[in-house]
Amino acid sequence: MHTLSDCLARDAADPLRSLRGHFALPADLIYLDGNSLGPLPRSAAARATQVVNQEWGQGLIRSWNDAGWFGMPQRVGARIAPLIGAQPHEVVAADSTSVNLFKVLSAALAVAAADAPGRTVVLSERHNFPTDLYIAQSVCQTHGCTLELVEPEAIDGALNSKVAVLLLTHVNYRTGAMHDMAAITAAAHAAGALVVWDLAHSTGAVPVDLNGAEADFAVGCGYKFLNGGPGAPAFVWAHARHVARTDLLWMQPLTGWFGHAAPFAFTPDYQSAPGMARFLCGTPPVISLAALDAALDVFDAAHALGGMAALRAKSLALGDLFIELEEQRCAGLGLGLATPRQHAQRGSQVSLTHCDADASHSAYAIVQALIARGVIGDFRAGAPGEPDILRFGITPLYLGYEDIWNAVEQLKQVLESGEWREARFARKAAVT
Ligand SMILES: *Cc1c(COP(=O)(O)O)cnc(C)c1O
Repeated sequence: MHTLSDCLARDAADPLRSLRGHFALPADLIYLDGNSLGPLPRSAAARATQVVNQEWGQGLIRSWNDAGWFGMPQRVGARIAPLIGAQPHEVVAADSTSVNLFKVLSAALAVAAADAPGRTVVLSERHNFPTDLYIAQSVCQTHGCTLELVEPEAIDGALNSKVAVLLLTHVNYRTGAMHDMAAITAAAHAAGALVVWDLAHSTGAVPVDLNGAEADFAVGCGYKFLNGGPGAPAFVWAHARHVARTDLLWMQPLTGWFGHAAPFAFTPDYQSAPGMARFLCGTPPVISLAALDAALDVFDAAHALGGMAALRAKSLALGDLFIELEEQRCAGLGLGLATPRQHAQRGSQVSLTHCDADASHSAYAIVQALIARGVIGDFRAGAPGEPDILRFGITPLYLGYEDIWNAVEQLKQVLESGEWREARFARKAAVT
C-alpha cells in the first residue's frame, strides 16, 4: 500500500525535482494535461517578450540576420533532434503536425513510386488521430492510392506487397498504448514498405530512436510534451537516405521559397534546397519558434540529470503509482484501466474508463468535476463501440508523487460524492 508519506519521501528523493521550477504553473493546481498543451516555461515567457520588444520592436527587419531569424527552423530542430534519436541537421521545426504529415506522406509516396512502383496502399490504424487520417485521405486521392485501416494487432498481417507506406502514431492519443517502433519498422521494411511515424505524444515524453529504428520519416508536435505554447511549430525528420536523393524533382509538394536552394535569388523556377531545408515552405513564425526554442531549455537541464532515460523512469513510476492508487483507493467506483500496464507498451499518460448504468457521458462529467477541484485532465470520446476516456497526462518535468496522490484522492472524492452528476447536466445545458 502506498501512503501519502511515501509519496512525500519519493518527491524529496527525486533527482528531477528541481525541473518544476522552470515552469510558471498556477498554485493549487495539478496539471495532468501536458500531453495536450504543455504549461508555460518561464524561459519562454521571457524570450517571447525579448523577441517582441527587442528583436522585432528595435531590430525590425535587421533581425532576420542580426538575431538569426532565418536559421531558426534549423536551430530549433537541432535541439529537438537528441530527443528523438536524430542528428542535429536532420530535423527542422516548421508548420503544424498536420501540414508536416502532408509533406512527409507525399514524400514517402514519391520515394515509393520511384523505388517500388505498383504499390498503391497506405496502411494505418483505424483509431489513429483523426488529422492523420484526414491528411492521408487527401494524399491518397492525389496519388491514386487507397488508405487501408486496420486494428493495431492486424498491422503485421496487412503488410503485403501492395503497401507503399505504413503511417502510424507511436503513442495512441486515447489509450496511451505505445508501438514498438524498431520492430514495426523492421517488419514494414521486410515487406517492402516505408514507415512514417507521428511522434505527437512521444517527443519529450518517451525515448525515441528514429535512426536506431532506421525509420523513414517522422513528424511531431511542439505544444504537447515540448511545452512550446499553443500552436507552437511542429517538426519534421527524414532519414538521410531519403533527404540525399536528387532524382526526385520535389521531395515534398509544398514547394515554397524557404525550401528553395536559393530563396533570395528570386529565380522563377523551383530548385529544392539540399538537406532538410527542402521540408520548409514559407516564412517561419519567429515569435512562436522563439518560445519553443526557450521551452527546450528545460530538456538541457534534464539532460544534466539523466536525460530522457531519467524522465522515462520517473514517468513510468508516476504512472504506476497513479494506476496502483486508483485501484486501491477507487475500487468499486466504476473505473477501468484503458492504458497498457506493461511499461514497454505504455506512453506517458494514464487513461481510464468509467462505467455507470444510467449516465452515458459519465467520463466527461467526472473530468469536469475534477477540473472544478483543480485537477486538470481531459476527456476523449471513445472509439466507436468503446467506452469514453478520462485522460491524465504524466509529465515528469513538473509532476511529483504527491501530485499523483492528491489527484487520485480528488478522483475518489468526486466519485464517492456523486457531484459529477451535476457536471453532466451542466454539459447538456452548454451544448444546447
Ligand atoms: C496533437 C496531434 C496532432 C496535432 O496536429 P496539429 O496539426 O498540430 O493540429 C497530430 N497528430 C497526432 C497524433 C496528435 O496527437
